[in-house]
Amino acid sequence: MIKQHIRTTLVLCASAAALIGCGATDNTVNTAPPAAKQNIPKNIIMVVADGMGPAYTTAYRNYVDDPSTPSIENVVLDDILVGNASTYPAPVSGYVTDSAAAATALATGVKSYNGAIGVDVDKQPLQSVMHFAKSKGMRTGLAVTSQIVHATPASYVAHNESRKNYNAIAEDFFDVRVNGEFVADVMLGGGTSYFKRDDRNILAEFVDAGYQHAETYESLALVPTGSNVLGLFAPVALPWVLDDSRKNRLEYMTKHAIKHLENDNGYFLLVEASQVDWAGHANDIASAMTEMHDLALTMSFLREYVEANPDTLVILTADHSTGGLTIGAHGDYRWSPEFLQNMNASASVIALGMANEDKPGDYVAKQLGFTLTDEELATFDSVAKQDDAIRLSAVKTFLDNKTNTGWTTTGHTGVDVEVFAFGAGQSSFLGQIDNTDIAKKIFSFIDGKAPQRGMASTTGVTIY
Ligand SMILES: [Zn+2]
Repeated sequence: MIKQHIRTTLVLCASAAALIGCGATDNTVNTAPPAAKQNIPKNIIMVVADGMGPAYTTAYRNYVDDPSTPSIENVVLDDILVGNASTYPAPVSGYVTDSAAAATALATGVKSYNGAIGVDVDKQPLQSVMHFAKSKGMRTGLAVTSQIVHATPASYVAHNESRKNYNAIAEDFFDVRVNGEFVADVMLGGGTSYFKRDDRNILAEFVDAGYQHAETYESLALVPTGSNVLGLFAPVALPWVLDDSRKNRLEYMTKHAIKHLENDNGYFLLVEASQVDWAGHANDIASAMTEMHDLALTMSFLREYVEANPDTLVILTADHSTGGLTIGAHGDYRWSPEFLQNMNASASVIALGMANEDKPGDYVAKQLGFTLTDEELATFDSVAKQDDAIRLSAVKTFLDNKTNTGWTTTGHTGVDVEVFAFGAGQSSFLGQIDNTDIAKKIFSFIDGKAPQRGMASTTGVTIY
């Protein structure tokens, strides 16, 4: 019966002019809005939430839940979920990927070893979807909260055998060309220290080549529409969003990137919520949820943008999950995100700040935004005299206990990640796919062709 249904779907699809519309009627997975036009997108926005495994999206829904209503409300991510992707790297690196191998897979459609930036297992350079978009006359850009030479954005632009070679990667941002042109027209994020160096001033080279330079969020707003822009807002990464002057920094950079990229030939934009991963590595639940919130604001903006620009495709996925986050821990069936909702600073800044306070407990309570017991105040008063690492661990452990959050690792885990898509061509991402399939489908769209459907993916699972 099921076979019969699939066969019918395939026959119908094979005869349809717009192959890409097929599968959307196969209503097992698709929860995306039906309004999206099923055609070949003019503009493609790829969003990577680094480290955002499925536990993060569930935790975020709980974190923003209104407890005065009986139900847990849907968030923007619930409205755009379409499928699931495997993330494993090339066999030489086993089952658990790092951000470099995963970004190389998402950018180029080729699995590589952990640490690889835009190169294959033989360290040979690979073409990314951003390179391909540039070769087709599209405008191209990236907006990220890490330094722009970090693994994810680097893999779309540069080629290096190791993600750690930040200076060489920054040089590739200027030196790698597609038909003589720079790979990215708009670059927004952190990383001044890699571009303005004693041995080479790549920032000045970009300015000489006609790029506008912005070094504050405010000055970015003054750049004339349609410019090429290098916006570097911090020496390395941007601060945690809890400590940043803009609580919507990713949404803000995304809006401005689009403003400069829009043109008749279309554009490819990479957006990365880079620091969800860093919160996972740090086992810092407060930063994990607030970085997720900046991502959610960005996705809400992109939903509105695609309503007005239905020829645009937006895809969101994670490169892997980080930290082995659990909602509930220690055999206790409880998760209490309300303790995270009024924080005035990150755990890192609170840990630093308490060392200089006369009444550390009171300071911590004020920054956390909730009342502490006398015993809890006394604990922070005594911890404040300890060294940096002990103070930071004390704040994070305190929040883990209050919220009953669990972590199993300070590294990555090998679970599949969710795939979200909306806009033109979104149905191509339905079901169980592999991270490399995402790049393959984007290559196909950029080439003006609908991705092939009904074929076995690299995971061996048939996609319809
Ligand atoms: Zn990571």
